[in-house]
Amino acid sequence: MHPSDTPITQLSLVRQLRFCAGHRLYRHESKCAFFHGHNYRVDIEVVGTNGGTEVDSVGRIIDFSMIKQRMLGWLDENWDHAFLLFEEDENALAAIKMVQPTKYFVMPYNPTAENMARYLLEVVAPSVLGALGVVARQVVVWETDEACAVATLVGNPVACVQPTESSVLVDAR
Ligand SMILES: [Zn+2]
Repeated sequence: MHPSDTPITQLSLVRQLRFCAGHRLYRHESKCAFFHGHNYRVDIEVVGTNGGTEVDSVGRIIDFSMIKQRMLGWLDENWDHAFLLFEEDENALAAIKMVQPTKYFVMPYNPTAENMARYLLEVVAPSVLGALGVVARQVVVWETDEACAVATLVGNPVACVQPTESSVLVDAR
């Protein structure tokens, strides 16, 4: 058997995160065009930038609390109790700006579960998790208990990340 054919065990972590937000789907044919909200659940899967086969001296890829602290911190600050709106949805943006106080987040595409998962995977996770030595491989956004959208980094998720020298962070618990 060629060495590259030898099975290896790859390790990953999945953390659940929850937040509440409002949105509307610009140009939707039906009721999703109205302002409404969801109790969202996000499942984020991360792997280590070392290839996903190694753990630290305690036996962890990373402490779960670090994912919560970084990702939920971002969600609390930016999306929780906010309205997510498409940048081209000028009517909705004008309306939400009239409310005082207001909290909204402008997205480069319609705020569907698919696009929210894509945004968390491509934009948010690299920014908030990059220094921790992990990379998000998959983000699942649950809009209801029955329906979710999945965004997955296809290919080697480790290859696109440059490990930083200061990747050791203290668990803040
Ligand atoms: Zn909705």
